Amino acid sequence: MSAPLHEARPAGPGRALPDTQQGMRRRNLSRVLHTVSAEGPLSRAAVASRIGLTRAAVSTLVDELIRSGLLEELGPERPGRVGRPGSALAVSGNGPAGVGAEVGVDHLAVCAVDLRGRVRSRAVRHVANRDRSPEPVIGDLTELVHRVVAEAEAEGLWPAGLAVAVPGLVARDARTVVRAPNLGWQDTDLGALLPARFPLTVANEANFGALAELWLGEGTPRDFLHVSAEIGIGAAVVVDGRLLHGNRGFAGELGHVPVQPEGPECACGGRGCLEQYAGEDAVLRAAGLEPGEDRVGRLAGRAEQGDAAVRRALHDAGTALGIALTGAVNLLDPESVVLGGALSGLAPWLLPALRSELARRTAGPACPVSVSALGPEGPLLGAAHSVVRGVLDDPAAVAERA
Ligand SMILES: [Zn+2]
Repeated sequence: MSAPLHEARPAGPGRALPDTQQGMRRRNLSRVLHTVSAEGPLSRAAVASRIGLTRAAVSTLVDELIRSGLLEELGPERPGRVGRPGSALAVSGNGPAGVGAEVGVDHLAVCAVDLRGRVRSRAVRHVANRDRSPEPVIGDLTELVHRVVAEAEAEGLWPAGLAVAVPGLVARDARTVVRAPNLGWQDTDLGALLPARFPLTVANEANFGALAELWLGEGTPRDFLHVSAEIGIGAAVVVDGRLLHGNRGFAGELGHVPVQPEGPECACGGRGCLEQYAGEDAVLRAAGLEPGEDRVGRLAGRAEQGDAAVRRALHDAGTALGIALTGAVNLLDPESVVLGGALSGLAPWLLPALRSELARRTAGPACPVSVSALGPEGPLLGAAHSVVRGVLDDPAAVAERA
């Protein structure tokens, strides 16, 4: 089963389409907004020709979107054109904003992104969340959310929703963290802990990372595997531009694919999982470095200086990633593999072994492996942009809430 994440939001008033005419209007509002978002600034006439509706029909829809604060007129187009000058339309820079948040093992981050995709406000706090209970962690996160929302509101934006990326399995209700082994959380309803004033979506950070890659990456294919490697290793499978969720929504747990069936015990209850070889903790252990702050920076620094133990640890992690990814690539035949997350900063030392393992073991020609340009920012941006995409997909629902 697959569905875009923003479809998993709880149904709000008016989300059901009562009749086909109403449904048609909602779909057309979305088509106009998507077109202006992707190609704007555009005149009404240009929008009409792009989506194949009459100019009169488009004008009615545009007026409604302007009243709702989702579109704005930039003023008359350049003179010298044939016919009555039209006003160029753009998505509003001061309308709804998507608020994205990330709960990391050792940081919390929140940002607000406007309809034009610009990050308008941002807050990060470094804090060791491992084995902290959910209440104080979400309390700290709520503080950051309030700070970011206040800044966004001071600029004239209003939050259309909150999306939270977590390093764990999330139930299909898109608010309950079923299990986050590196945080020690189990069956935690984040909806009960976060401010109720925003429509909420909670999802695995690897899923949001993959969506960010799909929406913001340069030339990202429609079929790819996104690996989000940090302390835990998650992956997301994107098929034809949509996330593959799996039966319970748990698809993509690459970190718990066994690399050595009799290897060391893992927090998941298994043995020899990929995380035990290529997760940040495992790499630090193998490299003989202490855990603590700036782990990736320290590993990269040592590797650059030619530290043999660090380079060997990264080579071995790349090999383990290659072995685990071989199964996924042989099974799914993606167009490419994208390496994201904090460990993407170690790509120069991980990739050679990863690529050679994949090439050696996959059935067809080697699957290309690239490094995400978004790096560790991917999940946070994907979360915020998922709210923005939700607005573009159903502007009528947002206007009703505004
Ligand atoms: Zn495991």
